[in-house]
Amino acid sequence: MLFKQVIGQNEIKSRLVNAVKEDRISHAQLFLGKPGTGNLALALAYAQYIMCENKTGEDSCGVCDSCVKHNKLIHPDLHFIFPTANTDKAKGKPLSDLFLTEWRELVLENNAYFTLNQLQDKLDTENKSLLIPERESTEIIKKLSLKSYESEYKIVVVWMPEKFNNDSANKLLKILEEPEPKTLFLMVAQDSGLIIPTLLSRTQVLKISPIDEKSLSESLMNQFQLSEQQASQIASQSDGDFLEAKSCVETSETEKQFYSLFTEWMRSAFKADVISLIQFSEEISKLGREKQKQFIQYCLHLIRESLINNYGTENLNKSSNNEKQFLVNFAPFIHGENCINAIELFENAHYHIERNGNSKIIFLDISLKFTKLLRVKNSYVE
Ligand SMILES: [Zn+2]
Repeated sequence: MLFKQVIGQNEIKSRLVNAVKEDRISHAQLFLGKPGTGNLALALAYAQYIMCENKTGEDSCGVCDSCVKHNKLIHPDLHFIFPTANTDKAKGKPLSDLFLTEWRELVLENNAYFTLNQLQDKLDTENKSLLIPERESTEIIKKLSLKSYESEYKIVVVWMPEKFNNDSANKLLKILEEPEPKTLFLMVAQDSGLIIPTLLSRTQVLKISPIDEKSLSESLMNQFQLSEQQASQIASQSDGDFLEAKSCVETSETEKQFYSLFTEWMRSAFKADVISLIQFSEEISKLGREKQKQFIQYCLHLIRESLINNYGTENLNKSSNNEKQFLVNFAPFIHGENCINAIELFENAHYHIERNGNSKIIFLDISLKFTKLLRVKNSYVE
């Protein structure tokens, strides 16, 4: 990871660069901030910069032997400790090294911006809580007792030292108290209150602030092809947290996708075009169950919005502009004579999808029944 790949954080970057230039690299540092501030990205960029064979005044070269290995997180003098759990793969002895492939993938796919939940999913831990066990400290002490392979330094990146238990922390303390020369610990944490105090007191704390709005907005424009206006709006709502901003972008993209699916679907339903309805159920069955359930929630949201629209309490309306235009034409078809049946239809479908029913059949079934419901006359209106 290069410093220029880390979003914003210019002040911290220059502090880190200066520490290297002035040869006052402290042996145990804590990068403290939310995962969306880029605390891990900064630690990785710092490690790469320290080891780069051809560094400039502000960044690593990106192409020397050391950088090439850092880019893939495979430098032999770069070690990782992160929380793990006892999965099938760990066979009773979880250890970071067993999950290095998954870890590298997770870091590289996300440019080092991710949460503990994402690690949990990646390691397939099935809701087991993650920990750094004593075995991990034993292992790292063993590794650090060997000579470094290629670099002047040996660097250990510890992600989430909050997850050390007493035994593993006490074991690690010994090497933090009597540091070997040219051995660095870069710890990356979110909540210093959850770190065992004796461990915390051995580290130099670097507080990582939220990302400045301008840098965050520029990065959103580059990564998600947003307009300047969209990007700066999301940046201003995300408290300098890239992960929060990313989730905003993803939510609005999903909504756009659902909106176009729903409008297309309703067009076929109004025409009672059975072939298109069959095609729709085939298309949506490819989306995956989570997405299908979200789509059904979205349909229920539009049905509720239609009712609100019809009964004149417009200030309750939570629709986007696109949806509002669509609802002008669609809402009159949802009324007192069919709304309860329609809601039940979607709620049942949600229930069956959750229980692994065949989604192609479930969606075709709703399509046909809903097509019929749309033809029910509203007898309350002339
Ligand atoms: Zn380099």
